[in-house]
Amino acid sequence: ICSIPQKITMGSESDQLRIFFFPLPAPGHMIPMIDEARLFAKRGVDVTIIITQGNASFIQKIIDREFEAGHKIRTHILQFPSAQVGLPDGIENYNTITSMNMGVPLFQGLGLLQKPIEQLLHEIRPDCIVSDMFYPWTLDVANKLGIPRLGFRGMSHISMCAEHCIKIHEPHKSAESNVVLLPGLPHKIKMLISQLPDWSITTNDFTPLMDAVVDSEQRSYGMLMNSFHELENDYEQYFKTSMGLKAWSVGPVSLWVNRDFTHKAERHKIACEYGEEHEIIDWLDSKQDNSVLYVGFGSLTMFPATQLKEIAHGLEASGHPFIWVIRKKETDEYKQVFPKGFEERMRGSKRGFIIKGWAPQMVILDHPATGGFLTHCGWNSILEGINAGLPMITWPLFAEQFFNEKLVTDVVRVGVSLGLKEWRQWGYEGTEVVKRQEVEKAVRLLMGDGEEAAEMRKRVSELKDAANKAVEIGGSSQTNLMDLINELKALKIRN
Ligand code: UDP
Repeated sequence: ICSIPQKITMGSESDQLRIFFFPLPAPGHMIPMIDEARLFAKRGVDVTIIITQGNASFIQKIIDREFEAGHKIRTHILQFPSAQVGLPDGIENYNTITSMNMGVPLFQGLGLLQKPIEQLLHEIRPDCIVSDMFYPWTLDVANKLGIPRLGFRGMSHISMCAEHCIKIHEPHKSAESNVVLLPGLPHKIKMLISQLPDWSITTNDFTPLMDAVVDSEQRSYGMLMNSFHELENDYEQYFKTSMGLKAWSVGPVSLWVNRDFTHKAERHKIACEYGEEHEIIDWLDSKQDNSVLYVGFGSLTMFPATQLKEIAHGLEASGHPFIWVIRKKETDEYKQVFPKGFEERMRGSKRGFIIKGWAPQMVILDHPATGGFLTHCGWNSILEGINAGLPMITWPLFAEQFFNEKLVTDVVRVGVSLGLKEWRQWGYEGTEVVKRQEVEKAVRLLMGDGEEAAEMRKRVSELKDAANKAVEIGGSSQTNLMDLINELKALKIRN
């Protein structure tokens, strides 16, 4: 364990608010929490991010830059107990595991950090801890210290409301068909039972962990939400009235803290085959405004070869330019399944740009040439799509993504659904394959000049404006953040 940096002030006399952030090492959780930590630092809070050595490299540059700019922000680096849990050195992030068998030991290793973290918190005595959802035990640590814990999921309000509704009402138990209406939610949300997370409708290995997560959230001081009032106000209300949760929407954090190109490009930078962004930017610069579809399935999705083949055919047949991100492990399979000469044709004609590995997603989405987003409905991706004013094609797969899809297609109506029916556990291929004709049809609809697409574009551009206003001075998220900071300061003084 590294020694505690000198710069952290000790003791509780100072009126300086100090907050520790403890992210889960998976890009979809870590990226927004780091953005949030930077946000607090920019508002004068003394911030420490607890992170393991292997993950620090993704963020250190950006944290150092914030520190040099005068903000009180630093990482506190812990050694990941690789040997103890039988993992090879360097496997410390869900994005870097090479087999599903590594998921459980990785989680166990993170659990072993409890002792060193407890020790650290007792030594430093911060004023608050912001903890990822998957560390419910941080509540006990916070309670022992008598400090507030803020829970962080990096998910939407609607997904948490839907999970709550399923737990309370169990609509699947009385359903006469595969279709359920989620009772009591602000909108009429109809879903297939097969789209609901398995742990929420049956008791399996994951259920006890999720129960512990929900219990810790109910007993925490509150929830820090990466969302904004204008997007999810009805569900914010449901949080308060039906779930009894105190929450602060302070998003979209990615929009708020990543204003310039360097920040967008360096956010959680993982090398991609192309190494540098300039090749992608040059390609985008050669395209007309709003003409390119960005196809990205987040940081964890792996598709079987059969699905990759259908996507390739569908994209080519659509006739629209695209950027498609293929994860590293998929690249081993893709060559055998792509249509003959696909890559060469796409490159030669400049019709398609295939990124193998990690894409600078924010840079691409924010480029004027990008006009649509085919997304797996990860919450960060949805927010980033909205921030860029892009209509979406929704292709949910696992976790809470089917609930997010409903917000996009049924509530704010800025996307067209591919009609996926099957929720799958992360890492499992499932049985459902989206056919090339369906991909082609959805791309033509979204990127074409029909009325439906024009209306979606109009609505999402209004949401984009609302997101920008939310993070400006006087905006809803900015006000919530300052209210929270002031409340935590008052609490510190009282204690
Ligand atoms: N991301 C990226 N490049 C990639 C894949 C993902 O920058 O090649 C970022 C993306 O911008 C988002 C996050 O990783 O901020 C993924 O989070 P999301 O909630 O969308 O999906 P998850 O990866 O958790 O399924």
